[in-house]
Amino acid sequence: MPLCFIDFGRGLPYTTAFFLTESEGLMTLVELNAQQAQSLDEVTAAADASALEQVRIRYLGRNGSLPAIIKQMKDVPPEERPEFGKRVQAWRAALEAALTAKQSVAGAAKMDGNAFDCTLPGRWFAPGAKHPVSRVIEETAAIFSRLGFTVADGPDIENRFNNFTALNTPAHHPSMDASDTFWLTDDLLLRTQTSPVQVRMMTQYKPPVRIITPGRTYRRDTTDATHSANFHQIEGLYVDTKPVSLADLKSTLAYYAKEMMGSKAGVRFRPHFFPFTEPSVEVDFSCHVCGGKGCRVCKMSGWIEIAGAGMVDPRVYRLVGYDPEQVYGYAFGFGVERIAMIKYGIPDIRWLYENDTRFLSQLA
Ligand SMILES: [Zn+2]
Repeated sequence: MPLCFIDFGRGLPYTTAFFLTESEGLMTLVELNAQQAQSLDEVTAAADASALEQVRIRYLGRNGSLPAIIKQMKDVPPEERPEFGKRVQAWRAALEAALTAKQSVAGAAKMDGNAFDCTLPGRWFAPGAKHPVSRVIEETAAIFSRLGFTVADGPDIENRFNNFTALNTPAHHPSMDASDTFWLTDDLLLRTQTSPVQVRMMTQYKPPVRIITPGRTYRRDTTDATHSANFHQIEGLYVDTKPVSLADLKSTLAYYAKEMMGSKAGVRFRPHFFPFTEPSVEVDFSCHVCGGKGCRVCKMSGWIEIAGAGMVDPRVYRLVGYDPEQVYGYAFGFGVERIAMIKYGIPDIRWLYENDTRFLSQLA
């Protein structure tokens, strides 16, 4: 009789099984299970990669046990074939999984602590984004460079002459108080504006001077949603021996407004006072959010205050060694953070300094 019926009788799902063996042409399910268990034990016992390979060849190789058993499929009664196939495939899958797992463990064990394991998943890094302050500075520099301006730089520590005196600040102006300015000595201070760079340029170079001066500035301000003790300014200066007028200033800032805030942005001047310019103006850009109709961003006015500007005061020319009768020029200045907050809709200046990646990644 070619087939052997096995009654498990122990509540197992299969009550009969009849697979072929090499000797008798029969293999019981019990034997099949025993061989599967043995193959897995051999994988576990394999001491190195070559032993593991021997196990693989013995069971899965061309002349191995599993292909031999599969070849005998034709001799299994048709009604038992599906179950036979399922069991053999389950054995093959279990054996292959065990071999793969053991190989990766063996591979990892072979490596020392410094080795690179190319099978490990990569580490994830949060993608960076350019900081809004850097973006505004770079965009501003690019826009003004198209108008012939160059970027000038100066030190954060300045002297009294460059920061105040040469800019026509009266000797007892409150902005010089220790409550407003970080004084380091009687003469040295952390610059309260980037205007001293203009003084440095004018004292060193003859006109024409056409510069913008982005940089850090320092004031004794209490930090809140719109103030910081350390912020950034960009100032601009154009001085020439050819006539330069307030209209030139306005067209320059109008060009900047359109390039920075969009082609619909407009600009308006309001009379004001600054010690180093005469006449002086405050500069508003039309609101880029509502287009001038009025919204919360512009406090319903349709305009947003952006910059201070004006024609350079003749007294400044004299203090830096220029002849006020021979030169013409304008200057302007604005806060970088203010532009960034308006342009990117940032409600609190402190967000710019906290380096919270949840905020910065929004700007990527
Ligand atoms: Zn608005």
